[in-house]
Amino acid sequence: MTPSNKTEADWKKKLTPERYRVLREKDTEPAFSGQYYKTNDQGMYVCGACGQALFSSDTKYDAGCGWPSFYAAQDQGKLELHDDLSYGMHRIEVTCSNCGSHLGHLFDDGPKPTGQRYCINSLSLDFKKDK
Ligand code: FE
Repeated sequence: MTPSNKTEADWKKKLTPERYRVLREKDTEPAFSGQYYKTNDQGMYVCGACGQALFSSDTKYDAGCGWPSFYAAQDQGKLELHDDLSYGMHRIEVTCSNCGSHLGHLFDDGPKPTGQRYCINSLSLDFKKDK
């Protein structure tokens, strides 16, 4: 997949306003508001902006936080990590490596075997259910 070269104007046209705010302006959807935090179906979670495969349902777990949570990436190379110092905290922001869209944050309080918790907005994801 070649890196996306869409402009912000292109994204604004392509995405709904609520998805644009999260994916392109790094907003966070309210906890327990999203489409996928309770989903248990088998399949692949892909970037809601460009469609790149990001997280397998095999690594999804209920962290009780109100956002879809994963203990591992489908492929580390499909995610980029950035220091986020907003709101007086140091967090690790997670973005899509293909299109640069905001996905959520990575925390170190996840379950074994990785200890990672990718806390991802439902609005940043689409779900491709296994047939
Ligand atoms: Fe993307």
